[in-house]
Amino acid sequence: MEYFPWWNDAQRKLADEAKKVTDEVLIPIGERCAWKKEFPWEGLKEMAKRGWFGAQIPAKYGGRAEEWGVTGACIVLEEAARAGDMALPLVNTMVGGIHQIIHDGTDEQKERWLPRIARGELLGAVAMTEPYAGSDIAGTETAAIREEDYYIVDGKKRYQTNGATSDIYMTYVKTSDAPEDAAKYRHLTALIIEKGTPGLTVEKVNDLVGFDGIDNCYLNFDNAKVPIANRLGEEGAGWLVMMSGLNAERTCSASVPLGWMREAIRYAVQHLQRRVQFHQRTGDIATNQFKVADMIWRLQLARLLTYYAAYCADLGKETPLESAIAKLFNTDSGLETAIEAIQCMGGNGVTRFYPVERIMRDAKMAQIYAGTNEVMKLLIYRQGLRNLMPDLKVPPRVIDGELKIPMPLGKPQPRKAVSGEDDALVVLAENYQVNPGLHMSMEDIKELLDVSDEDLNKHLLNLEEKGLVSLYRDRRGAIALARATYKGLAQAKPLEYYRYIPAWVDKKDVF
Ligand SMILES: Cc1cc2nc3c(=O)[nH]c(=O)nc-3n(C[C@H](O)[C@H](O)[C@H](O)COP(=O)(O)OP(=O)(O)OC[C@H]3O[C@@H](n4cnc5c(N)ncnc54)[C@H](O)[C@@H]3O)c2cc1C
Repeated sequence: MEYFPWWNDAQRKLADEAKKVTDEVLIPIGERCAWKKEFPWEGLKEMAKRGWFGAQIPAKYGGRAEEWGVTGACIVLEEAARAGDMALPLVNTMVGGIHQIIHDGTDEQKERWLPRIARGELLGAVAMTEPYAGSDIAGTETAAIREEDYYIVDGKKRYQTNGATSDIYMTYVKTSDAPEDAAKYRHLTALIIEKGTPGLTVEKVNDLVGFDGIDNCYLNFDNAKVPIANRLGEEGAGWLVMMSGLNAERTCSASVPLGWMREAIRYAVQHLQRRVQFHQRTGDIATNQFKVADMIWRLQLARLLTYYAAYCADLGKETPLESAIAKLFNTDSGLETAIEAIQCMGGNGVTRFYPVERIMRDAKMAQIYAGTNEVMKLLIYRQGLRNLMPDLKVPPRVIDGELKIPMPLGKPQPRKAVSGEDDALVVLAENYQVNPGLHMSMEDIKELLDVSDEDLNKHLLNLEEKGLVSLYRDRRGAIALARATYKGLAQAKPLEYYRYIPAWVDKKDVF
């Protein structure tokens, strides 16, 4: 596996070791378990004894966070993902409470759970999704009512990976029905619920398209009695607890398709180099080479996205955008790569005698779990736009005296003092020339006119009443955008002002 220049020595060493162990020990176990649909207990023990579960747990609690961190977690997940479905219990344990316990747990809670997780003695699961709360996770209905030193939990969760095989469940429950709490996301509480809690049962194990041998469950909570001592953070702080680990967790989830892609590529290339058709190797056919090229650039980009996000996380930086992009790109690329690898392998690709069809099935599911890729796009749109906003403002532009077309001005021109509503109308008419078909925002107008909000509002309302401007109001009814009407354009400037006929147009065609 290729190193990144910013990896420390321990991470490089881990990458070498993880690759060797995966090739020699984990892949044989993982492939066998996936074929037999068995949970890969033996493989988990191999990973546990090498400390992989503790990659993000501080040394004080038996882990290697200071040396390996989120980057190390991604390294071992990338490798484990090459070994059947071995990476899934590992990643679920990594996202099933570690960050929340570290960030929001008390010292007692840290001592109680972290060392055992680091040793691989406790497997984790995330109990978040419910039958009626999927992407809209704030709609959680599983409720907890406090009774002395316990919460009594009633409800259902679904789609929990490792739902039957886990020891601790990072669970989010509703502790308030007050609309004002829900409006502020203060209606949820985070609980670590342990296997063996009376009232917690597995309701159903899903027969999924993939994850062969890995249990994915519905959980039922029937008066489940959970000690208050298992609550992470304050009551009502569940949303914040959930968010506290989200970015690093998403980066970890994004590293799993890296291993899938590497396996798919290596089987595709093996075929292309050894299969002869039409007196040539299928790998000599340009369209197959293009497929491999696409697989390579996708893998390269996916690894860059992941390990950049992991590096930022290890520096203590929050990575909402980077992690969401990595999750989106890597899972889409995982599926695309598996499909194209199968195509390169022809009929062999769709047999279960090679792991690529399984990778394709798993990769499809990865577009849905840990937040669907549509939800990732929503996050990327919101966060990405926020980040980019300072660079998105277009420069002030005016009609150039010589060229008669809109040109960037560089420095903004001094704002004109306003004597009345006509000045606002003229600015809107000029904007018709500079930004044809676009309204002006209030900020746009105020960049050109020295006018108070109150006066501008008054002028625009007067102009609207006279039919000279058209206004667009926001949901609260405030004026958000304005433009001149045709009548307003005619009143503001003579027709000649709006005319623009390029020199190449034959004058006799223009009337
Ligand atoms: C294999 C697998 C493993 C999983 N493991 C776990 C686990 O361990 N723990 C756990 O708690 N959950 C787990 N999940 C649940 C997973 O997180 C949810 O399936 C996911 O969040 C989507 O919820 P949903 O299935 O209810 O789909 P819905 O929320 O009903 O969405 C249906 C479709 O509508 C789209 N959609 C929904 N809202 C919007 C929106 N606002 N804008 C645009 N599109 C939207 C979605 O993208 C999707 O395409 C797992 C799921 C799968 C498939």
